[in-house]
Amino acid sequence: MRRVEAVVARARRGVEAQLPAKQIMAMVQHDFEIADDGRTLFIEGTTYRAADGVRFTYCGDHFHVEGTATPWVHPISLAAAQPGAFALPRSMFYEVANGAVAERSGASPWRDLLSREQIQLTGDGWYLTERYPFPTFARLQQASRDPSLPAALRDEAWRSVLDVLRIRLELDGDAELRARLASIDQGIDARWKDLEAQIPAAKGRKGRD
Ligand SMILES: [Zn+2]
Repeated sequence: MRRVEAVVARARRGVEAQLPAKQIMAMVQHDFEIADDGRTLFIEGTTYRAADGVRFTYCGDHFHVEGTATPWVHPISLAAAQPGAFALPRSMFYEVANGAVAERSGASPWRDLLSREQIQLTGDGWYLTERYPFPTFARLQQASRDPSLPAALRDEAWRSVLDVLRIRLELDGDAELRARLASIDQGIDARWKDLEAQIPAAKGRKGRD
């Protein structure tokens, strides 16, 4: 009964704060609430506190853990969470110790990628941008705009660029990110080598057109 009262009180605070209905529904379904201007997260009976530089925010039917000094955002989906088994997921952005959520310290690829706008948040996913500093990625982009290449080859280059820009990055850890980027780099290299091999013949054909 106490739990029901808590849920009702939470829903009432959500209504009074004029939160969207789907947020209130998520709060009730997943037994969570963000308080103290984003410094406290109550979820399924556990309390997390945000350290300096971190806050919790509502977003639609889920919530975010965000950096306040560094502009990272880790969207936390609740759709797949089993009721009663919630734990904050691992993150390359933050770490949890004794209920306190703090930004990870130290060097990490995401810091450079973020500060140089080489990754960006679109919707609730992180993606590489066209600035991603990999040499053959730049060559693929150049080829997609190269008027000396036949349209079919330019299109192929552009499709390869788009395929890279559509890869949704997992946020689970630093080592995982490094491994993922290495794998993406390999894929870009393979696409470029494949395209590069077609260029002389394609230019020859175009020259004869
Ligand atoms: Zn979100």
